[in-house]
Amino acid sequence: MNFEISAKDVMGRIGKLKTPNGVVETPALMPVINPNLKFISPKEMKRMGAEILITNSYIIYRSEELREYALKKGVHSLIESDLPVMTDSGSYQLMVYGDVEIDNATIIEFQNRIGSDIIVPLDIPTPPDASKEQAEKDLEITLEREREAIQLHDEMGGSSLLAAPIQGAIFPDLRRLSAKKAAELKADFYPIGGVVPLLDSYRFSDVVRVILEVKSELPPSAPVHLFGAGHPMVFAMAVALGCDFFDSAAYALYAKDDRYLTVTGTKKLEELHHFPCCCPVCSDYTPAELKKLPKNERQLLLGKHNLWVSFEEIKTIKQAIKERNLFELVENRIRAHPYLVAGWRVIKEHVELLELYDPSAKQGFFYTGIESCYRPSALRHHRKITNLTLQGEKFVISAFPDEKADFRLIPVFGVVAGEFYPAGHAELPDEDFIEDEAIEEGLNCLFNFLERNKKKRFELGLTGRWISFIEQRNIKIPENAVIGAVIRNSNSGGN
Ligand SMILES: [Zn+2]
Repeated sequence: MNFEISAKDVMGRIGKLKTPNGVVETPALMPVINPNLKFISPKEMKRMGAEILITNSYIIYRSEELREYALKKGVHSLIESDLPVMTDSGSYQLMVYGDVEIDNATIIEFQNRIGSDIIVPLDIPTPPDASKEQAEKDLEITLEREREAIQLHDEMGGSSLLAAPIQGAIFPDLRRLSAKKAAELKADFYPIGGVVPLLDSYRFSDVVRVILEVKSELPPSAPVHLFGAGHPMVFAMAVALGCDFFDSAAYALYAKDDRYLTVTGTKKLEELHHFPCCCPVCSDYTPAELKKLPKNERQLLLGKHNLWVSFEEIKTIKQAIKERNLFELVENRIRAHPYLVAGWRVIKEHVELLELYDPSAKQGFFYTGIESCYRPSALRHHRKITNLTLQGEKFVISAFPDEKADFRLIPVFGVVAGEFYPAGHAELPDEDFIEDEAIEEGLNCLFNFLERNKKKRFELGLTGRWISFIEQRNIKIPENAVIGAVIRNSNSGGN
């Protein structure tokens, strides 16, 4: 196995990918190197945190000078780096220009000969809004080329890794089919392709659906690359959905237009009065000073900031995985844009898949909003409490924190015994300020619990928040429960 996972949270993981030129820790960001342009040096990228780079073998192949150099001395020497290098095949150019002057076998062989660490076949990216017929046709070609790539790769020998890109536009069944076929080929690396137009237009719900469909078919041990995702505002969400690799051309493209990346979105340099960052660039310059510099200098500095902030986010995410509070980080990050909120809420449709990946041992539970209700720990708790065998006949379930009771009633989790983790130690806002969804989740759990223990009797200590929720919706309390102090006075000695 080339990919080894050492820590997990949500569907995200910290792993190590072995490549011929070194081991890469994931989640990893691969800065895109344009072999035709001198911009930020790979040496400096390494200092910023880059462990792997990506460049385009098609651009190298097309230039006689670059091609001859790369064939003689290798791609690492060409871009002047000892880091592992992934090479793209020209698929992106195919999407943008509609045609490339190369075939699959030639570009695979070329990537092999120049010593690429990760080789990509010439897959066909289908635009998101193409017809299903088109997407099917494109996918058929992609799958055929991947089969050819595997065969060539085996024949050529060598230790490079082979990628099997996953296509299928926004059609769930095609994405699943593509992922399934790619997994059958036992490729080393799985890029999810064709998502750039979705990311560019903030169609995050579609992106989330695509990732989850793909993840449902790939084995958990497969390293996944969200191809073309380079904006740090999506990293936390994508990692939490199980993506391990990103590539950034964004750092340079945005800098070219005087745009400044942050984890909450993009700023225009002209709008900035202060830099909300402490990277070396933002420490040495004010926005006013940067604006006065000649364009090429300004562009270089903005590009550096854009990379610094991107790597900082990768480190933040890794730490969150270690601390197992990636849910909290993502729920925080999605507040940056309503479409990110909408995108993340798609997980509600895939709770079982999330549960399969999310480790059950958590450090805690910090409620940050409605999305916290979708975490598997809430679902797991509901199942656990519903299956609990009760000893005794009468029980008190109370939402009053200071009241003596057999069980607490709390939003999201519902019926909770003190020792239950993380429910018994969850940090939630005061009931009066929590969203209805959290009360509703808690109430659903309570009613399932009462239904499951039909023959027992319960007294419910309900605070005003729960009572008004029940009254407003005309919810009927099950027959084996009463609200108030009836049982307590006759049963538990008047506490
Ligand atoms: Zn900065």
